Amino acid sequence: MPLVFCPNCSNALTIARADSTNQHPMGVNRFECRTCPYEWALEKKWYDRTELKQKEVEEALGGKDEWKNADSVATQCPKEGCNGERAYFYQLQIRSADEPMTTFLRCVKCATQWREN
Ligand SMILES: [Zn+2]
Ligand SMILES: [Zn+2]
Repeated sequence: MPLVFCPNCSNALTIARADSTNQHPMGVNRFECRTCPYEWALEKKWYDRTELKQKEVEEALGGKDEWKNADSVATQCPKEGCNGERAYFYQLQIRSADEPMTTFLRCVKCATQWREN
């Protein structure tokens, strides 16, 4: 999620769900400023356009910093021949704010990386 700042007071905006309207019965996401009344309604399309490209996702997978303090979780390594039963993991929001986060995993044994969701 990119950080967006309020044009009025330069505070980081937070994402919120606006009330539903006839045009957007599901409501629409919007940025809100916590310290002033600034609001910026977002159409769903805004997210589609800023979705991470596959390549960027792969780069995120290979990033070293993400793994530095990663916790590990009991899971099954998907690599054939590896019986790894633990993987480091971290989570990233790479889609719309209202969808579940994507979990990136890396086998502690063979360093195979994969993601779930
Ligand atoms: Zn503001
Ligand atoms: Zn493995």
